[in-house]
Amino acid sequence: MNPSDSHGTGDPGAGDDQAGTPRPELPEMTRERARSERRDLDLERGEPVAGGMGRADSPRALRPYARPLGEWPTRPRILVTNDDGVESRGLLALKQALDPIGDVTVVAPDTNQSTVGHQKTLMRPLRVRERQLADGSQAWSIDGSPTDAVSLAFLGYFDHRFDLVASGINYGANLGDDITYSGTVSAAMEAVINGCPAFAISQEYYEHPDFALAALAARVVARNILEHGLAPGELVNVNVPAVDPDEFAGFEVTRLGKRIYQDELIERRDPRGLPYFWIGGPPPSGLAIAGTDFHAVINRKVAITPIHLDLTGRSLLRRLKTWRWEMDEDPDQAI
Ligand code: MN
Repeated sequence: MNPSDSHGTGDPGAGDDQAGTPRPELPEMTRERARSERRDLDLERGEPVAGGMGRADSPRALRPYARPLGEWPTRPRILVTNDDGVESRGLLALKQALDPIGDVTVVAPDTNQSTVGHQKTLMRPLRVRERQLADGSQAWSIDGSPTDAVSLAFLGYFDHRFDLVASGINYGANLGDDITYSGTVSAAMEAVINGCPAFAISQEYYEHPDFALAALAARVVARNILEHGLAPGELVNVNVPAVDPDEFAGFEVTRLGKRIYQDELIERRDPRGLPYFWIGGPPPSGLAIAGTDFHAVINRKVAITPIHLDLTGRSLLRRLKTWRWEMDEDPDQAI
């Protein structure tokens, strides 16, 4: 047992705290400790953890490499990940869909990380395990988020870099506002931050998802990105309707639509009689406006949505410049 546990505060860093010290000081000490932990962490994060790649050959450098698949001098290296976890059938479907066009490496969270967004794990260690997928192929799992899985690959866990990152096939669509919650899309964003082209692919479903159409679509998307390339900051978000390949109505390049969430706060009692809360409710719907991802998917089309990581609000930028940006002379009279 760690001796500091005997303080019973759950606060081992407060080791020099003496009996009688007023408790109210603790929150401030906790904040100061968090700040210094963060500084230590930044120092640790200064270098890639493994892999021995020199800076000039850094995987962070954007590789402006795009050409017809038949003209690649070597097979493209593709990293496949997801947010549903390494055991997801959608992950296997994506891996198998991309096997014919590249050398695929699979790294995924060991548990379902749906809706974690762009979470990155900085305050605890990460463990990586070698796994075997249902088809017998090799994969790796990490006890972290989708972003952690991508970070692992780009910070040098493997001794090579990647030409493309594919994230999915997610159980459930990621349309419109969904992308702000999505671990699937965030994994692709993490790739883009590391200078690698990426796409996310999600499957709308009602009862039993069938990934046949999504697998075919994934290959088309991967081929297009490898042939044409993406500029810095760009990724592609793909949504596949819940239909068989013979009911498929084609691809449509779309913009993000508007989701309508129907979340409800459900309050229940635990076995000790204390309340707990659950965010529940029916699945989201959306505004069926032509040209949007939501509209395409309900019309049996695969929605191909370009995303850019520059989230600057251009129209707000112009309006903000017309506001008065000076300190108020007399703050008490500001209102
Ligand atoms: Mn998911």
